[in-house]
Amino acid sequence: MKLHGIQKMTLLDFPGCVSCTIFLGGCDFRCPFCHNFELIDGTMKATMDEDELIDFLNSRRGLLEGVAITGGEPLMHKDLPALIKRIHDTGYRVKLDTNGYHPDRLKEILDTGLVEYVAMDIKNSPEKYPLTCGVESVDLDLIYKSISILMNGDTEYEFRTTVVNELHDEEDFIKIGEMIKGAKRYFLQRFTDRDSVPYGNLTAPSFDKMYKFAEIAKEFIPDTRLRGVE
Ligand code: SF4
Repeated sequence: MKLHGIQKMTLLDFPGCVSCTIFLGGCDFRCPFCHNFELIDGTMKATMDEDELIDFLNSRRGLLEGVAITGGEPLMHKDLPALIKRIHDTGYRVKLDTNGYHPDRLKEILDTGLVEYVAMDIKNSPEKYPLTCGVESVDLDLIYKSISILMNGDTEYEFRTTVVNELHDEEDFIKIGEMIKGAKRYFLQRFTDRDSVPYGNLTAPSFDKMYKFAEIAKEFIPDTRLRGVE
């Protein structure tokens, strides 16, 4: 498999684990706030293949413990299970990011027991899902199925929402709370603007708004936390 990028070390992407992050191209969605848009619109060329990744991991043994796989949407790739197995066989722990749109593949991968942690995006309330994903329609059954797989499975997970001033309001966090009520952990991540974000007119919510949204979500998911608010 071709990789579209690597961050060679991070303490932030894989909770409790010193890891690298690898980026896989392609995505079902076109979120207007995406930080990795060049990965999904085909403009970025692959930078590394699987063998080079394994060589890199062998060279970092003892320095890194894990690999966070992100995108784009990693589960779009049919050969992802084989890549995860190679990473695991090299002695590394694996974390997976997903937009939740490939529940069957998610289940298949979790059933192998080779992925230790999953972070799934909850883009917005059901009504605003297509708008927030930048597409005409979204099959929400797939999203609900992924939520159920994670909430009823044994793998550690988090749900997370990137909160954008122009896309989210208090009502949305009531509806999101109903979607993932009883979840183990939920993070609200404050949007940050970057040059790579495709729509330049989006802004970050105020800290006060973030605290209010978290307070609402806590009614449904007691372990709700904020990221990017400090
Ligand atoms: S799901 Fe993630 S990678 Fe895909 S467009 Fe949205 S933010 Fe970008």
